[in-house]
Amino acid sequence: MAPLPGSGLAKGLAVTLRTMTRKSVTAQYPDAQPDLPPRSRGVIGLFEENCTVCMLCARECPDWCIYIDSHKETVPPAAPGGRERSRNVLDRFAIDFALCMYCGICIEVCPFDALFWSPEFEYAETDIHELTHERDKLREWMWTVPAPPALDPAAEEPKEIAAARKTAEKLAAAKAEPDEAQGGSS
Ligand code: SF4
Ligand code: SF4
Repeated sequence: MAPLPGSGLAKGLAVTLRTMTRKSVTAQYPDAQPDLPPRSRGVIGLFEENCTVCMLCARECPDWCIYIDSHKETVPPAAPGGRERSRNVLDRFAIDFALCMYCGICIEVCPFDALFWSPEFEYAETDIHELTHERDKLREWMWTVPAPPALDPAAEEPKEIAAARKTAEKLAAAKAEPDEAQGGSS
């Protein structure tokens, strides 16, 4: 059956009337800041101290937008008679956010927890070159990375924390032993 003439218009007006009475959900950004979840993918922070320059993130990045330069440095032996070792020293670490597609692969593959998501997103630039963030800027983003969520109370203790706790207990026990021996001999 053919629709009645004007029924489309009536339907449209009905939708308009219905939505007119509803509360608006439009947020007046930037006056109203969005309440983002802590794990939002805004920008990537680099915790430079953890980076061993293994290059895994740069190799796995599908956009090839991570630029890393480094050089090798010889480290003297830890003990006399030992062998010299060499280590990578970071010269440049940059991410081009004009190319980045926020896939998070670099953060996932980093074996040393050197890359983190920050929910910060207000870094638009008028010059596209400014969207390449060098290591100092990436390091600064680390201050905006939220603390990790609390563990589930029923979860196993993370192995890093368990190892640190055992070492602390051993040290405390070793420190207590001479104290006890002194107390016993006096
Ligand atoms: S989030 Fe994805 S595209 Fe962006 S730098 Fe990391 S791996 Fe590359
Ligand atoms: S994967 Fe991690 S440790 Fe390796 S170069 Fe990238 S940030 Fe550094």
